[in-house]
Amino acid sequence: MSKEFNKVALSFHAHPDDAEAWNAGVLKLLKDKGYKIVIASMTAGDLGGCNMTMKETAKLRIEEAKKAASVLDAEYYMLGGTDGFLFDTKELRLKAISLMRKVRAGVIFTHLPSDYHSDHRTTANIVETAAMVSSLDTVPVKEKPLEITPLLYHTSPLTLSDPLGSQIVPPHFFVDIKTAIETKKKMLGYHISQIELMKHMHKMNDFFGYVLEGNRNYGKMAGVEYAEVYWQHLGGGFQKEPQVQNDLSEFLINKMS
Ligand SMILES: [Zn+2]
Repeated sequence: MSKEFNKVALSFHAHPDDAEAWNAGVLKLLKDKGYKIVIASMTAGDLGGCNMTMKETAKLRIEEAKKAASVLDAEYYMLGGTDGFLFDTKELRLKAISLMRKVRAGVIFTHLPSDYHSDHRTTANIVETAAMVSSLDTVPVKEKPLEITPLLYHTSPLTLSDPLGSQIVPPHFFVDIKTAIETKKKMLGYHISQIELMKHMHKMNDFFGYVLEGNRNYGKMAGVEYAEVYWQHLGGGFQKEPQVQNDLSEFLINKMS
């Protein structure tokens, strides 16, 4: 018998704009299917400011993230890790478990374990280990254990390569996000501080255009205009119910064209 996982999708990434960049299309489609959306970041992205202190940047970026989340009527949480200095600690794992329990997560999205960014890899590890024990009543947090371990999915950075440039396992599935693209643009558009930062860091004038270009490239691989790519955590410790794939079946593309 197939199991039902709570229709609460928790997008759990490292920095305040990660959910918008890698996951927003699917979050919008899931919202339309009746899911409650929750967005969380491990850090406030406090290194990502220009001409501001880390404290000022954190405040600004949390405000930007809340505005972006509100587009999907989503709650936004920040776990208090430090941008660029994120470590996998007992404290952060316990906070992650508390959050998963508080929002009664059924489906969790996080970075790939082989992502290019160190904070992303650390986040993937914290989220995976936290999710794996989120239903155990021996964990010392006050929130009630989840009835069932949530399903875990991984989101992608802009390329399908590991930090050394090798090709990674091809996406398990592509999602056609054409109907969600305006929502995704609107959410990205609230992260105004990042436009300035990318000009400064990478001399990149149109960061969000660059993100959308990534969605267009994935779209090309899948034979549609815009796509996001996903992997389900099938390597053990988690159920393999394809709930997201089933709920988004009309947008799903299993193979590269
Ligand atoms: Zn990030």
